[in-house]
Amino acid sequence: MARPGRRRWRVGMHDLSKLERLLPDAVLLAFFRWAVGTSHVALCLHRVCQSPARPAWMSMPVQELDRLLELAVAARPMTKDRWLTVCFDDGYADAAEYVAQRAPGFPGVEWLVFICPEKIEKRTGFRWDLLDEYGRPPSDAKLFAPFDLERENDRDDLRDVATQPEFRIVTLAQCRLLQAIPNVLLGNHTNVHPKLVLLTPEQASREFLRSAQAFERLFGKQEHFAIPFGTPEEDFDESHVALLRALTRARIWSTEPRPFRPSERVLGATLPRFALDGRWSARQHLLFIALSALRCRLTEAASARLPAPPEATASATARAPRPRVSAEGRPWLRAPGPSRRRRPAAADRAAR
Ligand SMILES: [Zn+2]
Repeated sequence: MARPGRRRWRVGMHDLSKLERLLPDAVLLAFFRWAVGTSHVALCLHRVCQSPARPAWMSMPVQELDRLLELAVAARPMTKDRWLTVCFDDGYADAAEYVAQRAPGFPGVEWLVFICPEKIEKRTGFRWDLLDEYGRPPSDAKLFAPFDLERENDRDDLRDVATQPEFRIVTLAQCRLLQAIPNVLLGNHTNVHPKLVLLTPEQASREFLRSAQAFERLFGKQEHFAIPFGTPEEDFDESHVALLRALTRARIWSTEPRPFRPSERVLGATLPRFALDGRWSARQHLLFIALSALRCRLTEAASARLPAPPEATASATARAPRPRVSAEGRPWLRAPGPSRRRRPAAADRAAR
């Protein structure tokens, strides 16, 4: 699960849908093609639902996701340079079934399925699916209560939740089926899905190591790793990236919402993804990605125009406010999404 981060860049749902409604498909696709340019784009999803009547931020209607892929490919036809990456985090069975059905039909798209190896092996579910008798999700206090890393996936309540049809976790056999599809790769998503900033560095290292060992024992080399929750500074920071890099050359995926250059795809890179809210339409997602790409280009153009600091005044310049940039030199962006203050009713929190 990746929480949409606090908004820094204000594009509210209302503004986006107003703008989106004004744009004919042809204009929207042309704007997307122009704004994204030669950059790569990665999408982070979690689950799919069959009925369009039941979207939730973690679960996107199949029809809407199919539409998003069709529009993206229409806007920028697939070439050898796989510019679009579609990720599913957490390892829900419905997501795995969707990827198994769709991936062969989009050979130019890179599909990454991030799973929690120990949860698959022990058939254990997620804390956020521990709903109370009224269907309400657990409080943050329960969701982020301290972890016993070794025993978390032996909890009976989490075992029980994975047996419930609506919270089915992917099986080992399904994972093997996915691994047999040429443009699908599995990635590691830790064993217990902790919020890394709440762990000690020793605990974080142990979780990275234990999950990498379980992943490689079950599925082979760990080439991709997705950070749980994934929002920079809120869920993890550079110290966690450094711990990971000390252990693996896998590409590390966050949910920093921006496109990225093909040259950023180096081993050990931290790569951004757009965490998609299942309640948004395909066109709204496409428009938001295009606006984010445009903002990246404008911020880069602005920082390129900034005069290089003369050595003598380096310290003065160091104090000067600069656009916040990630290790790869691209602006930190935050996705517009339901901010915590305005998160809608219990049903939605249930989808956490
Ligand atoms: Zn997750």
